[in-house]
Order: sequence, then structure tokens, then C-alpha cells
Amino acid sequence: MTALALESVSKTFPSGTVAVDALDLSVSDGEVMVLLGPSGCGKSTILRMVAGLEDPTDGLIRFDGEIANRWSPRERRVAMAFQDFALYPHMSVRGNLGFPLKLARQSPETVSERVADLAAALGVADTLERRPGQLSGGQKQRVAMGRAIIREPRVFLLDEPLSNLDSALRQGLRAEISSLVRSIGVTTIYVTHDQTEALTMADRVAILRDGRIEQLSTPHGAYRAPESLFVAAFLGTPRMNLLWATVYAYLDDRLLLDLGHQHVALPWSDPRVRDLVRYHGEQVIVGLRAEAVTPVGADHAGALRGIVRYAEHLGHETIAYLDVGGMAAGLDELTGTGHEAVMPVESSLRRWWRSRRDGPAEQAPDPEPVAE
Ligand code: ATP
Repeated sequence: MTALALESVSKTFPSGTVAVDALDLSVSDGEVMVLLGPSGCGKSTILRMVAGLEDPTDGLIRFDGEIANRWSPRERRVAMAFQDFALYPHMSVRGNLGFPLKLARQSPETVSERVADLAAALGVADTLERRPGQLSGGQKQRVAMGRAIIREPRVFLLDEPLSNLDSALRQGLRAEISSLVRSIGVTTIYVTHDQTEALTMADRVAILRDGRIEQLSTPHGAYRAPESLFVAAFLGTPRMNLLWATVYAYLDDRLLLDLGHQHVALPWSDPRVRDLVRYHGEQVIVGLRAEAVTPVGADHAGALRGIVRYAEHLGHETIAYLDVGGMAAGLDELTGTGHEAVMPVESSLRRWWRSRRDGPAEQAPDPEPVAE
């Protein structure tokens, strides 16, 4: 069942800025939808329109099928939490959690019961009598989330809730928020520009660019099968390598990619390679993820050849940057600069985009190397 739907929703500010551009998005009951995108792509504006804090210039917003454009924020029954989780400093945790229920004139028994249940779910049951000043950053955040959701909102909206926290705390809370919203089954929209948060927390992720959805899919789907160069280059650390290549199809079950400085041979047995045959004689952009690359011996036929220029030791992995003739490629588990490495591209190609150099700029940017 669809809990929330945006139908062709646009927002143009009086300044002329088009923050959201004819956006369609539906969120199912209990789903965790993450809006991911670079700064200024319209994430917060979408959230504010759902909350009723901003009016769309065009389009419809529906809650449970009903048009809600004219509903006040209160009528929408959404809960919104921001980076800055403010708590009432003079009230205990119990007082903070129970406050929205008291305002709603719930009986003291109900308040007490609901506060106890939620405090247990949030893992703050032993802090109920403390004031916010006596809590850790993570505990404060959990209490603030609890206060936001205690009235069982229709939709829970979170705008970059973790961005002010240090990385250890962020990682812990990421998992907590994710399990909390799922355990209570609240429909959630979570805004972030942090792809790790998006990929780990979302049921589905909407990747936004300039007020439009570039791709809407499961996190795994967006990572494995990006539908545009923008998504391919945006998702993943290190970023996907993008290489210009000219395709030459040969009859003897091989396909040749001319990278300018070298040729790479691919077997037709891979269906993705067969897809490329129709671009015989044309230029394409080849996407290559670092983790898909493994080093092989120098005599490996048809592999990509490169020189390791430098390596980054990250503890759990090492990322090597290779010069493959004008382009750089990331390569895990390969150390030592100056070592010549040959990579079997057969296993590594993820997706190809047909492109024309004279096409629109966003369709055919110069591919950027991973090394920056
Ligand atoms: P960030 O990640 O930096 O918070 P965002 O993706 O949430 O960015 P929005 O805050 O929704 O982006 O802004 C989208 C666009 O609309 C931006 O170009 C922004 O400058 C513009 N914008 C936002 N609010 C207003 C406003 N009140 N008046 C005019 N322009 C605005």
C-alpha cells in the first residue's frame, strides 16, 4: 500500500531556482526511502513539501491516496527530525519523551506505558530520570528520535540526522535508526548526501540531481546497474573508473576495445560483451569498478595493462592507482609503485554506456580518473 505519493511535484522559488522538477515518487507503507544526492539537488525541499512547510508550485502530494496539498503540517501527522536534535534541557528524558503525548492529552498511564516501551526500544531505559545535559551525543539523538515518533506519525522524515556526529557514533546510530524504524514499521524518508548511509539504510534509494530522480532502485541495484553516467560516477568509493573506448567486433569470438593507448580483448561468452557488438566502430564509455579488478600475469592475453603510480593503505584494503595510458584505475590488494600490473577486463566490466562525443554534455562527459 502506498503511504505517500508525489505526483509531478515541482518547486520553483521566487528567485527562479527550480529546486524540484516534475518529480514522481511513491513510498510504500513501512518503507525506508532514502533521498541521496549532491548539495542543492532538492532533497530538503522535497522533505519540507511533504511536511507541509513548503508549498509545491505544481503537482500533487497524497497521503494514503488522499490529496494533501492543502493540509496543514499538523493534519499531515508527519514527524520531522533534523541534524540538530534539540531536547528540552530542563526536562528529564522521561519528560522529553512523554511531552508530545501530554500535549495530545493522553492519560498519565498511557504516557508512562508508551514512554517505557519506547525507551526500551531506544536503549535509553536506564536514563529516564536524567536531563539531556547528562547524556552522551548518541543518547541525546535517540531520545530526540523517540520524541519525534512517540505519536506514531504517518511518515517519519529525517534530514541528515547524523551529519554533526563523529564517524564512530555515526556508524552506530546508522544501524540503530535503521533497526528502530523497521521494528516500529514507520514509513520513513531519510535525506542524506552520504552514500554509505544511503546504501546501508534504504529499502529503496532515489538518487537525485537538479531536482529530478536520476535512478530509483534498491541500493544494490543502483550500485550494480547504474542507469546513467551520473549515478555510476556518484556511487562507490573509490569512484568507478570511466574509460573511453572504440569497439571493434571480430568474428573469432572476441571483441576488441581500443583504449587509444592499448587494446583490450573481451570474450563474446559474456552477454554484456555481446551487447557491445552493435557499437562496432563507435565510441563508448566503459565503467570499471576497482573491486572487480584482479591482477594477473603479464602474459595474460587480452588484459588491461597499467603501471601502479601510487597506493593508499586503508587498513582493511589497499587501493592502487594505475596509469593505463592517460587513465587511472583503482586496484585493490596490489601494492608497490612502479609494479606493472595486467588486469583481466573480462571479469570487470560492469556496464557500458553508449555515448557520442557530440551529444549533450551530461550524456558524454570526459571520463574522469579515480585518482584525484
Ligand atoms: P543540501 O544537501 O546542501 O542540504 P539539498 O539537496 O537539500 O541540499 P535544497 O536545500 O532542497 O537542496 O535546495 C535545492 C535548491 O533550491 C538549491 O539550489 C537551493 O539554493 C534552492 N533553495 C532552497 N531553499 C530556497 C529558498 N527558500 N529560496 C530560494 N532558493 C532556495
